[in-house]
Amino acid sequence: MLEIFKKVNPVSFLTNMWITKKEPVSLVHFVTNRCNARCSFCFIDFDNEEIFKDELSIDEINKLTKNLGKSLVNVNLTGGEPFARKDLINIAESYCRNTSIQSIYITTNGSLPDRVKTFAEHITKKYPYITLSISISIDDLPENHNKIRKIKGLFDKCIETYKLIEKIERVIPVVQVTVSEANYKNVKKIYFDLLNIYKVDSIKAVIVRDEGIYKTPTEDKRGILNSYNWITNKIIEDSKNGVLNNYDQNSAQGRLHFKKDTLMYKFIQKYYLKPFYQSHCPAGQLFGIIDSKGKIYACEILDKDCLGNLRDSKMNFMKIWNSEKNHKLRKFIKESKCHCSYECALAFNFTSNLRYQFSFLRSYLDF
Ligand code: SF4
Ligand code: SF4
Repeated sequence: MLEIFKKVNPVSFLTNMWITKKEPVSLVHFVTNRCNARCSFCFIDFDNEEIFKDELSIDEINKLTKNLGKSLVNVNLTGGEPFARKDLINIAESYCRNTSIQSIYITTNGSLPDRVKTFAEHITKKYPYITLSISISIDDLPENHNKIRKIKGLFDKCIETYKLIEKIERVIPVVQVTVSEANYKNVKKIYFDLLNIYKVDSIKAVIVRDEGIYKTPTEDKRGILNSYNWITNKIIEDSKNGVLNNYDQNSAQGRLHFKKDTLMYKFIQKYYLKPFYQSHCPAGQLFGIIDSKGKIYACEILDKDCLGNLRDSKMNFMKIWNSEKNHKLRKFIKESKCHCSYECALAFNFTSNLRYQFSFLRSYLDF
């Protein structure tokens, strides 16, 4: 049986996923905007002091997590640097206690190895049904990576974080390379050095996105895409031949994840320079965003369309999710054939769309 059905009812889950699409299945929760790095491509406006204030408290998060419906199976805890919050364990525990999540996905800049290790050991020991993915961002080889992120010695800390957690059961450490104008000329060397020198055997890649205050320089886009194509094709090839250990090809769950990532890589390779509509996006239905101050959005891209603030709704997420405002936004997303390459929403675009289910079934059954 799929792991996912341990805590959710399969019939109501699949009805929501494929037909009604009324409850969130996965949420991205920006727990803080604080970060000790200063990447040039970051969407956070660090000059604006206001963005660091008024983070949701643990009490507020406890109320929020009691109002997230019955279909939530995953939460992404992100930031800023999520481990900058010393109470990140309490936040994760609140989701584990009060919702039906089966997995937690965390993105970190890797600067706080001991906090990551303590977190991973605690959560997996106390909640043995949770799979914890920890994605450590590495953009380049040591000198350049430290320069891009503006933290001395950060590359070594990232590798230390990876090594500290790779042996913990049910923790999936992944090094994530964001291909951007800062590193695209160096991507092959980064990949092979990670693999051969630093003995990292779990690597994924994303392409830099225009968001917030960041805009990709037009003259670099072709080069960025070529490097993204190379690294994602290499990841697919090396995952199949066992050089990489991103996915457990012996488990149905691992094969499904591999299929989903392959579909996303292939889609973004075609989409990046010439965007096009492929299928309906379920943002605002199955997928959504909670920002650090409690504002709710359908996705990160439609950041002008705030659906409401949890603090104005007594932390009742579902009240905002089922509001007239969200119905209008869902209608807009559908009628405008809204499309983009935002990976988090894209994953649900594929998994909730009946047209891709046969190829997922083939991966699941391995034929
Ligand atoms: S590590 Fe992430 S949150 Fe921090 S500055 Fe860089 S991109 Fe922004
Ligand atoms: S297609 Fe992109 S911008 Fe449009 S709703 Fe989905 S995630 Fe948001």
